[in-house]
Amino acid sequence: MSEMRFNPITLDWAIMAPGRSGRPNDFLRVKKERPVRPAYREDCPFCAGNEPLAAEEISRASAPDGSWLARVVANKYSAFSATEDLRRESRGTFRSMAAAGAHEVVIEHPRHDQSLGDLEISHLAAVLGLYRERFRALRELPNVESIVIFKNSGERAGTSLEHAHSQITATPVVSSQVLMRLEEARRYHEYHGACLYCEVLREELEAGERIIEAGPSFVAFLPYASLSPYHLWIFPRRHSPSFDDIGDDDLVALAGVLGRQLRRLAVAANDPDYNFTIRSAPVGEAGSCCFHWYLSIVPRVSHLAGFELGSGSYINSMLPEVCAERMREAEIGGELRVES
Ligand SMILES: [Zn+2]
Ligand SMILES: [Zn+2]
Repeated sequence: MSEMRFNPITLDWAIMAPGRSGRPNDFLRVKKERPVRPAYREDCPFCAGNEPLAAEEISRASAPDGSWLARVVANKYSAFSATEDLRRESRGTFRSMAAAGAHEVVIEHPRHDQSLGDLEISHLAAVLGLYRERFRALRELPNVESIVIFKNSGERAGTSLEHAHSQITATPVVSSQVLMRLEEARRYHEYHGACLYCEVLREELEAGERIIEAGPSFVAFLPYASLSPYHLWIFPRRHSPSFDDIGDDDLVALAGVLGRQLRRLAVAANDPDYNFTIRSAPVGEAGSCCFHWYLSIVPRVSHLAGFELGSGSYINSMLPEVCAERMREAEIGGELRVES
């Protein structure tokens, strides 16, 4: 019989229905052909050499020879712009305000044919360093309440450009999803005197079966009630509400654990498209007792359908214990090097 599992952090119910993975569209049976990407494309605004095609540069990580490893540019099609005047309007239930904030793009590599998961750890750490730098800068903008760092990799994950990149948005509101999580974490802290996330991590480590790797600073695991196959979380062991509080050593450690999970995923789950997002406390809650930042990776291996949309619950066709085992066993070699 299928089983329903509850996620105390997201308050989602996931229906574990492993019997469904034998269906003909099972992603594990479909070998996806990735288009071969050239090292350089003349019309790509993110390729080295085409810098004038992109919007203005905001920051960069440089190589010793002065060339760039990764850089941050404004999003040409940003929905948000910096403003001090929120122009709040309210007519009965019709409320509006200015879309104050920022939308930036992090170009992860000068070459067109590179993927984040293939990068050397030091390069990945440079990308994460840009995330931290921009997070710290954006939180100082007027009216910014929430900063979201995310990546869409592949068509099924919603990317519009194939050159490896991620995005950062700063917005004047905190989404209902984040507010609800914060509220729940607060409630838990009041009842139990502990951080809900630290508790979940402790119990997952005790259970062990969903752990992919547990290092001194970070733990990668699939949550007990993961919503879809290979949906995984990377938690810092140290309680810290806001991502930008991460130290230099932990930045490198995070690059290692993230890089390894992306490589494991490619082996274990047939190189899926994926999204990741860094979940961090709202700007005004950086000192929160209860929130605990983490990185969430959601491989796009199953489609949301009417049931998910209508019920808000999810049917997961693979048990996280099985996914964790396949992830642990995935042969990823040592440090995969990429010529640059
Ligand atoms: Zn390119
Ligand atoms: Zn915590």
